[in-house]
Amino acid sequence: MVSNAEFTGHTDPRLQALPTVKIVGRQDYTEDLFKLWLEPSVPFTFKPGQYITIGSKDIERPYSIASSPHEEYIELFIEYVHPEHGGKLTPLLYAQNVGDILSMRPRAKGIFLLDENYSDHVLVGTVTGIVPYVSYIRQFLNDKRTGHRFFVMEGASHFDEFVYDQEFEELQSNHDFIEFVSTVSRPNDPRNKNWHGSVGRVNNLVPDNVDRWGLSKQNTMIYLCGNPGMIEDVKDKMGSVGWNYCEERFWKEEDD
Ligand SMILES: Cc1cc2nc3c(=O)[nH]c(=O)nc-3n(C[C@H](O)[C@H](O)[C@H](O)COP(=O)(O)OP(=O)(O)OC[C@H]3O[C@@H](n4cnc5c(N)ncnc54)[C@H](O)[C@@H]3O)c2cc1C
Repeated sequence: MVSNAEFTGHTDPRLQALPTVKIVGRQDYTEDLFKLWLEPSVPFTFKPGQYITIGSKDIERPYSIASSPHEEYIELFIEYVHPEHGGKLTPLLYAQNVGDILSMRPRAKGIFLLDENYSDHVLVGTVTGIVPYVSYIRQFLNDKRTGHRFFVMEGASHFDEFVYDQEFEELQSNHDFIEFVSTVSRPNDPRNKNWHGSVGRVNNLVPDNVDRWGLSKQNTMIYLCGNPGMIEDVKDKMGSVGWNYCEERFWKEEDD
């Protein structure tokens, strides 16, 4: 058995036996949001919407993958949860940089995939909850596919937390089958003084936008990812009146 202990800090022999990823890129966006690009030590396959489990010092956590399978590196978008708020792995990840090594589970997991039974996809995410949608759309474009429409709705407290907004805005300009809406929930916060776009919680904007886009229940799947409060509210507003939805929770409501 090859041990990764020297690099990952794992003491548990089962974790020491796992393959590894090397951090090959890092970019910070706010004081608690950053991206990592990872190079696996073994071949790693996944479907857009799945997650990878990485670890260090005997702690492992799942992360949805933002890159799509055709890309060279695995791209993650991570929110640092301060130790005071219970963060365990993210403080370790936050301290890491290019060249550092983490363990990885060899198989991607997750069933939050694009549902091909529907042609219209309403993709609602808060902050890091946008990640699976980035992967869906990058793969769809790389495969030069047609016949589906994507309506991306992203919410955050502050506009500097959007991070993928430029990518989505460009996609919206270049493709008539991609729409992008971003909205801040704290418009009066001084941090948002340069924000001139939509305001309000993204969950509150779903019904009006679905109406404005002329979507039908029959052809549409609503995807919900990120903040559990957002997920519950959209389920109440849309699921209860017959819209199809699926969800991916990154953490539990009681932890909020
Ligand atoms: C399927 C899946 C995919 C995920 N994908 C991502 C991803 O792409 N990016 C990402 O940053 N995280 C993602 N997460 C969450 C991630 O696994 C960790 O829970 C998170 O990074 C915090 O890790 P931690 O060890 O520092 O704290 P933990 O021990 O995991 O959690 C500490 C506390 O913080 C809460 N918490 C965790 N994440 C957040 C958050 N973002 N905001 C507020 N409270 C939080 C927890 O519920 C808990 O109360 C995903 C989780 C799941 C289940």
